[in-house]
Amino acid sequence: MNINQESLIADLDRLAQIGRGADGGITRRALSFEDAEARGYVKQRLAQLGLEIRHDEVGNLRGRRPGRRDLPPVMTGSHLDSVPSGGRLDGPLGVVGAIAALEALGSVQTVRPIEVVVFVGEEGSRFPRGTIGSAAMSGHVAVQKIWELRDPSGVSFRDALATYGDEGEPIAARSAPFAFVELHVEQGGVLEADRLPIGAVTAIAGLVQRAVTFFGDANHAGATPMHLRHDALLAAAEWCLGIEAAARELGCVGTVGKLEVQPGGKNIIPGRVDCICDLRAAEASTLDALDRRALQLLEQVQKRGVTVEERLLQRVEPGPMHERAIAGVERAAAAAGLGCRRMPSGAIHDALHMAEICPASMIFVPSIGGRSHCPTEDTEPRHLVLGSTVLARFLLEFANLADEN
Ligand SMILES: [Zn+2]
Repeated sequence: MNINQESLIADLDRLAQIGRGADGGITRRALSFEDAEARGYVKQRLAQLGLEIRHDEVGNLRGRRPGRRDLPPVMTGSHLDSVPSGGRLDGPLGVVGAIAALEALGSVQTVRPIEVVVFVGEEGSRFPRGTIGSAAMSGHVAVQKIWELRDPSGVSFRDALATYGDEGEPIAARSAPFAFVELHVEQGGVLEADRLPIGAVTAIAGLVQRAVTFFGDANHAGATPMHLRHDALLAAAEWCLGIEAAARELGCVGTVGKLEVQPGGKNIIPGRVDCICDLRAAEASTLDALDRRALQLLEQVQKRGVTVEERLLQRVEPGPMHERAIAGVERAAAAAGLGCRRMPSGAIHDALHMAEICPASMIFVPSIGGRSHCPTEDTEPRHLVLGSTVLARFLLEFANLADEN
């Protein structure tokens, strides 16, 4: 299975020019001019491969390579939209890697069709939710709800689709794929630390985000003795450290990345702190345990004489991947003579929703320095090739399975 490294890199370089800013970062918001240009390029590449191009009613792009039989297809792909000033691989690798894998398959016939998909609006950097295309395809969110989403300037998803998208046939008319696999950069440092080229993704971590406000008493930093203070920031700090300890103990991750201190004077005891915590785990029971601990800690820190208000912002259930697809990734890596480990994904991907309708997994390749969602996001070229090789082998195996289970 020979992946053409030159053409793989050329495709990535071409896409990296679309929406590139002065800092080298790439900005392609969903259904923007840049997003349309990137989709146009991929459409042309898929057409060169002789694929049949279609769109669905939320603007997902699908290219179909026919099989010997008209069975549900094996599907692969990712997204082309980005975060503001993001990297060149998050999303495009899964699309370009799929093109490279199909080129490697050449004229080899398969039993099932293979479909390459470009999901619309994965990043949530324009409309108020991410994974739009896969949520629609899986039926997780009704198409009507998606059409009604509005960006911050009031433009509806459907109007944006009419301007820079491709609206196609209804999704309800389609059946679920036979299997789904997504090639993606890890966006963390686990594979690099383990010196492994491939990760087989076992689950997409779920998340809980809560907004918390600590109310204390703002007072004079010189005249108020320590024992008479109700410092809102110290209560918040104790809570942040408690989340760190709980996440370490439970083997998951917890972050307080937003914290606003009021009144914010150098000589004033903090009277109010607003913060948001982001808790993530690959298993629902672990996520629940961490969330419970975070709430218990809120009770405890009130001993400092502060009061607390809390509200749930968002909860996304963890998405287990399917054993059949995970083992498929492992087999494909082993067949290519590559080291592979099972691992959860800390970030959310379209595979989360695809796993709701068919056996799904992901192929991770190492991120240099674990960096992503920034202009310096990168992966060794040989790892890009190896990930595409594993993808090609996975597609070949699954597209030749004729049975229904
Ligand atoms: Zn992505």
